[in-house]
This record gives sequence, C-alpha cells and structure tokens, in this order.
Amino acid sequence: MGVEPAFTPDVARATEGLYAKVATIIPRVEWAVHAPLIAEINRLKREKNAVILAHNYMTPEIFHCVGDFAGDSLALAREAARTDAKVIVQAGVHFMAETSKILSPEKTVLIPDMRAGCSLASSISGADVRLLKQKYPSLPVVTYVNTSAEVKAESDICCTSGNAVAVVEAIARDFGVDTVIMIPDKYLARNVAAKTGVKVITWEGACEVHERFTAAEIRDYRAAHPGITVLAHPECPPDVVAEADFAGSTAAMIAYVGSHKPRRVVMVTECSMSDNVAAENPDVDFIRPCNLCPHMKRITLEGILHSLRTMTHEVVVDPVVAARARAPIDRMLAVQ
Ligand code: SF4
Repeated sequence: MGVEPAFTPDVARATEGLYAKVATIIPRVEWAVHAPLIAEINRLKREKNAVILAHNYMTPEIFHCVGDFAGDSLALAREAARTDAKVIVQAGVHFMAETSKILSPEKTVLIPDMRAGCSLASSISGADVRLLKQKYPSLPVVTYVNTSAEVKAESDICCTSGNAVAVVEAIARDFGVDTVIMIPDKYLARNVAAKTGVKVITWEGACEVHERFTAAEIRDYRAAHPGITVLAHPECPPDVVAEADFAGSTAAMIAYVGSHKPRRVVMVTECSMSDNVAAENPDVDFIRPCNLCPHMKRITLEGILHSLRTMTHEVVVDPVVAARARAPIDRMLAVQ
C-alpha cells in the first residue's frame, strides 16, 4: 500500500466540484473521509489509462465521484466493448467483470474484491445448462447476463432485465418456436412470460436482494404514503411487480423518475440506487426501503484504490470459453 491520502486543503479544492454532485446525500463531515481516496483514485486512473465502470448499485461516492461510466449491466457491457482505455476497473460484481473481459479480451480487467459474487450467477453451472439442453434439444437458451462465462458459453443468446422481452421474442422467432429456456432467474422469467406470448421454461435461481420484497410490503408503503409511485425491478416476485405502477430495469426506473418526476417514489430494488437517483433529482421525495446487495457492497473506495495501485485482482477468462460466451452477448447486442 502507498501512503494513505489525507484531506488537505488542496484535496478539498480539487474535489469541491464532485462534492456538489452528492451534497444532498453525503454529509460534509463524511466527505472528509471520501475526498482523499477519490482524488487519488482519479489521479491513478489518468496515470494508468484506466476507466471505472460503475453499476447503479454502487454507493454514491463511487457512482458519482470515481465512475467514468455508470449504468446497468447492459450499458456497462456496451461501454466495456467501446472504451479505448487499457485497464477496466469493474465497480460491480464478478460476472460483470467477466463480461467486460469477454468483450475486451485485450484489456486488463480488474475487480477490487474477488468475493463480489451474485446469488443468481452461483445458482447455475455450465453442466446444468448442458443437461437442460439435452432435455429440450430444440429450444433456444436465453441466459440472463447475471451468470458466469461458462454458463453464457452454453447459451444461444443473453439478455438483461432491460431487453429480456425483446430478446425472448427475437430468439423464439429465429428458432421458429413458441417456447424458450430462460435461465437462471425464475422471477424474471415469469415476469417476462407475462408480457409476451412466448412460453418460458426456467430455472430455480433468484436474486437474494429482490426476492425479499413482498406484495404486503408494497401495500404498506401505499398506505403509509398515499399517492406514492412504486417502481419495481423485474427480479422481484411477480406479485410484487403486479403491485407496482411500473416495472423495469434499473436504467428504465431511472428514466421513469427523470421523465415523470413523481412527487414521491419508492424504488423496489437495491438501496444504493435510490441514493444515486435522489442525488440527481432533489425535487423528488424518495422513500427508501433498504435491501442491500452484500456482494455489490464489497466494492469500496478503499478497495478500488488498492486495485489500481496493485493492479489486482485481474479477471481472467479462458479464451475458448470467452469466444463461445461472446457469441450470445453479441447476438443480444444486435437485438436492439
Ligand atoms: S443485486 Fe441480486 S442480481 Fe444483483 S449482484 Fe446482488 S445478488 Fe446478484
């Protein structure tokens, strides 16, 4: 480790503009802890020709102050394929870093904490998918991006929560079938099936953050805050989605708040997202239910700084697996 950065007057001046972006959600006293790390991370990014891809579930000091590109899985995957930087630091979970490596094999992809996993990604293996394909040999496999490279490698097409309906319809058309296999999130699969005529065979995976929300909880929010707008992520159980005014990916929820400007809103998803959107919409009142993703929260400013200083932890994907996993991602990116 290098010398620990300190909150000097120079650091305070250099980071004042960044503080303005988060002033409504980060108290000044806390900023004195974040600012030196932020200034050093941003300096190291320039020195090492690195970019930070920050997922919507990162905490605000990461999302708004060191992230070069922020967004949902789909937006980050696109940016990984496009960036000219030599180094990508994934401020997100491991499957996202693998996706970046698959799309940019010539770049160094780093993840600040190798333990940043995902309950969906760990629910299914490549061998599981091969068994499913043996059971339903004529059906295409639609794989949520929240999966490992070896699972993607066994798939026909990938999807995100933002494009899942369009992807399912496109692949069913291409294969001339009325049913697809959609893995690994049982709730996303059921929510998608409810929006299309295509039938879906799914897997018993679930996001440990979104499956905890209940329909009764949503009704309680409505009773406690009359007139509140409820936005839900499609990884939530279908009865939760049914109680919502709108269901969509993190990007779609952000766009909804920006365009509709509801007076008061609850985002039924990971906690940090409401903080990040609230910073950009000070005129909207956010009620914040808190279901934290323990994997996303393994990514911290301290971890990012260590990652850039030591160039760890490098994410490596077997080139043969990567080439096979790239095809379904490219096929997805061509759908929109
Ligand atoms: S929020 Fe859910 S889907 Fe996203 S990384 Fe965490 S466990 Fe996985």
